[in-house]
Amino acid sequence: MRVGRPVPLAPQPVCEYCGANAKLTRFGDEPYPYRDDHGPLWVCTPCQAWIGVFARSARNVPLGRLANAELREWKGKLHSALEPMAEGKVRRDGGKIFAARAKGYKWLAGLLSIDEQKCSIHLLDVDQCKAAVAIIARFELERRSGHGSDSAT
Ligand SMILES: [Zn+2]
Repeated sequence: MRVGRPVPLAPQPVCEYCGANAKLTRFGDEPYPYRDDHGPLWVCTPCQAWIGVFARSARNVPLGRLANAELREWKGKLHSALEPMAEGKVRRDGGKIFAARAKGYKWLAGLLSIDEQKCSIHLLDVDQCKAAVAIIARFELERRSGHGSDSAT
């Protein structure tokens, strides 16, 4: 009797910049964009766009949309903006950092008027990332001015 089933084919994502099918690449493959191993990536080489896969996903399910350089930059900015909030929440209320991050994205989903399911750093587009970064900056500013003991206003 055969043990185990063949792993079904990965859901091949399409590059939204050019419409081509992305190619699954691994560390060491010719089009792999990083010098060190970030796990398997779906890559569109002409667009220099890529996305990782869910950890331990045998089918290499992509985390979200392929990201080009501009989107990667904004994802980085969003992460940098949200992470201190999540860490602050863990310090204040305890709990796990991933739960605090999830709460943060839920909060952003409401303010961005998008589905909570679609509010993940890997699913947002450039405009949504920009809007989210602006929301966080405004929130932090208001919070700081509210707390400021020497605030003039
Ligand atoms: Zn492309």
